[in-house]
Amino acid sequence: MAKDASRLKSPRCPACGSDAGRKAFDCIEPGFEILVCCGCGMGRTIPPVPPEEIGRYYPETYYGKENVRFNVVFERLTRLFRLRRARVIASRAKPGPVLDVGCGRGFILACLRDLGFQPHGIELSDTAAWHARQVLKLAVETCDFNRSPHRKGVYDAVILWHSLEHLPRPVEALARAHALLKDGGLLAVAVPNVESLQAGLFGRHWFHLDVPRHYFHFGAESLASVLVRQGFAIVQEDHFCLEQNPYGWIQSLYNSLGFDENFLYSLLKNRSARAMRMRRHPIQLALTALTLPVVAALGVLMTLVEAVLRRGGTIEVYAVKRRT
Ligand SMILES: [Zn+2]
Repeated sequence: MAKDASRLKSPRCPACGSDAGRKAFDCIEPGFEILVCCGCGMGRTIPPVPPEEIGRYYPETYYGKENVRFNVVFERLTRLFRLRRARVIASRAKPGPVLDVGCGRGFILACLRDLGFQPHGIELSDTAAWHARQVLKLAVETCDFNRSPHRKGVYDAVILWHSLEHLPRPVEALARAHALLKDGGLLAVAVPNVESLQAGLFGRHWFHLDVPRHYFHFGAESLASVLVRQGFAIVQEDHFCLEQNPYGWIQSLYNSLGFDENFLYSLLKNRSARAMRMRRHPIQLALTALTLPVVAALGVLMTLVEAVLRRGGTIEVYAVKRRT
């Protein structure tokens, strides 16, 4: 992956300690680029937005009105996917205390509560935690995970579902998850896969890049190496994810064809976000409607191909804390 000619002296990689990096590409968001570590392959968003300023990249529409992000059909589908995920976790962890870091609306925790777990969540802000707290009556802390009040050695499972890449210090977060877990406890992690087929093909237009909200960009190998270094043993690595990966193909393809960035995604969101984008881009709306059935079929097909090649657009990794 690395080319000697493009090697740069870069800030030390928090995962492997290497100070050699190479610039992968400039991002769509002006002023940001992706730097890839020559030692372990982990990508970084440069410059990282200071944590105290990142809030302005999470507008209220990111979470949706009363935390409803998508239209009714997609909301139903999202809940089904969460239920499936909770069942995988329950099949690999004893029912006990579980901590979901970046719990969002709390669907996984609510499912796990029904399966006999004691749910705890962490979110970035009160806005993000509103649904989990007020509707699902879950205990959610709004704090920095690395300094959260949770006790060490008591959790049967810690979940970092599409949240690890949002953290400014992900290696510390994995060490913290390790400390909070009981021996043999389960860590469930999902991240976009920067080593995937779709990331390689679409580059800066890749939907799951999501700069600057994503500070770090993991691949299957770089994630595995950092997990092992932090004292985990990997027990399962999935590259087939129907919730995330076909959409990664579909949206990235439209982005790279010159459509307004993430136009379709905005149409799937709640009504106010949808109406605004539809009025602004009527021709793109018509072209999207005409081509979507074919593009969606292509997205599902390519999701199967990349899963077979073990290069899924997002990956789900389950690891257990090795006995200390
Ligand atoms: Zn590295």
